[in-house]
Amino acid sequence: MDASDISNDLERVHCTEEQIQARLAELAQEVWDHYDGEDFLLVGVLKGAVMVMADFMRHLPGSAPMDWMAVSSYGSGTKSSGVVRILKDLDTDITDRHVLIVEDIIDSGLTLSWIRANLESRSPRSVEILTLLRKPDAAKVEIDTRWVGFDIPNEFVVGYGLDFAEGYRNLRQVATLAPHVYS
Ligand code: IMP
Ligand code: MG
Repeated sequence: MDASDISNDLERVHCTEEQIQARLAELAQEVWDHYDGEDFLLVGVLKGAVMVMADFMRHLPGSAPMDWMAVSSYGSGTKSSGVVRILKDLDTDITDRHVLIVEDIIDSGLTLSWIRANLESRSPRSVEILTLLRKPDAAKVEIDTRWVGFDIPNEFVVGYGLDFAEGYRNLRQVATLAPHVYS
C-alpha cells in the first residue's frame, strides 16, 4: 500500500521507501564493520520490526542469523503503558553471544529498556540496539542506542511495520497518522 492510496488517513510522509533503503544500507555497513568478523545474532521485536529486519539484514554484506521476541506494550492505543510482558521468547540461547536488537521505533524507551535488561540478564557477550526511528521522548530514558535510522517529531506514525490497531503495517512509507483516524 502506498501513501497515495490512503492520503485521507495521513498527515505527512516522514520517510520514503528510497530514504529508508538508503539509510538501512548505511547502517548495515556500519554494523558489519563494528562486529568485524565476529558472529552476531539479530533479535527482532514482533511485529513492528518485521520490515526493518527483512530489509536491514539483506543489506548486510554477509550472513547473520535472526531470532524474534514478542512483547506486549501498547495494545491498540497510542500511548505506552510501561507494562511489558513476554508473549514469545527467543528460541536461541544467547549466552556468550553478541546480540543486536532490531527495532522499528523508540518512543518512551520503556519497552526497549526492559527488553535490553531482560536480555542482559542472560549473560550475552554484548547487547546493542538498532532502531529505524526515534522520537524525542526517547531521550528521557537512559537508553544507549548505537544505531538510529531517523529522528522524527513526537507524532504518532504508521507504516513500514508500525501499526495503529494492527492496521497500516503494510504502508510502504513512514507517515504521521491524521488525528481524525484515532480521536
Ligand atoms: P515505547 O515503549 O514508548 O518506546 O514504545 C515501544 C513500542 O510502541 C514500539 O516498539 C512500537 O511498537 C510502539 N510505538 C511507539 N510509538 C509509535 C508510533 O508512533 N506509531 C506506532 N507504534 C508506536
Ligand atoms: Mg515495536
